[in-house]
Amino acid sequence: MIFSVLLLILFPGVTVADHFGYSLELQKEWTKQSASCEGKNQSPISISTASAIPLAIPALEFVGYHNLLPRPISISNNGHSVELKPYRVPAQDNTAQIFGGLLPNKYHLESFHFHWGRKNNRGSEHVIDSVRFPMEMHIIHRNEKYDTINEALNHSDGLVVLAFFLQTREKDNSALRPILEELQFLMSQFRTLTSGTHHLQDNYRRLQPLNERKIYAKRVVADASYFKNSFLNVSDPAFWH
Ligand SMILES: [Zn+2]
Repeated sequence: MIFSVLLLILFPGVTVADHFGYSLELQKEWTKQSASCEGKNQSPISISTASAIPLAIPALEFVGYHNLLPRPISISNNGHSVELKPYRVPAQDNTAQIFGGLLPNKYHLESFHFHWGRKNNRGSEHVIDSVRFPMEMHIIHRNEKYDTINEALNHSDGLVVLAFFLQTREKDNSALRPILEELQFLMSQFRTLTSGTHHLQDNYRRLQPLNERKIYAKRVVADASYFKNSFLNVSDPAFWH
């Protein structure tokens, strides 16, 4: 598996109900179970790169992603995804973190999880230029100004979720071999997992309306004044919606 595209998504999080499920019928129940599933700013969305607004976004910086994450790392089938959580040293934030881009603060790694399909022509939550990838990985980060994930969930700037699309190919990506060998992260094994009586697959939410939101795409430009003129005010609460 190799990654294809990187995008940045911000949302305040979703609370999971006991009879949570990804069938179309059960997805219709989400808004009844959790208010955070309602509103005009839901994900996932369909993205057209041709109509995205070009923006000279500063580089997103990754700290600690080249090191081994603090052990032990818990891996669980939580009934709707596979979730990985690195150990968090009490009273310290020594895990991987991101900053830069248009982020107002540092954001600390909290967990990873995945969305995948029963077949290779589906599985990702977001769709780019009408392509739905076989898998999407979400890395959840918590704003450093909040001590816990539960506290961060109550604020519109509480979480940053980085989404990576994963594509299957015949030859393994050697860069991922240590991870694949340790975790046995093969697509076929994801598809054997179960949630209750059902196979855990096609665990992606149906596309949500974009409404009045805008989609920005990073563009590398030689003229520094472009960035100055196009800078977004991220302290404006409207940016986060
Ligand atoms: Zn997700």
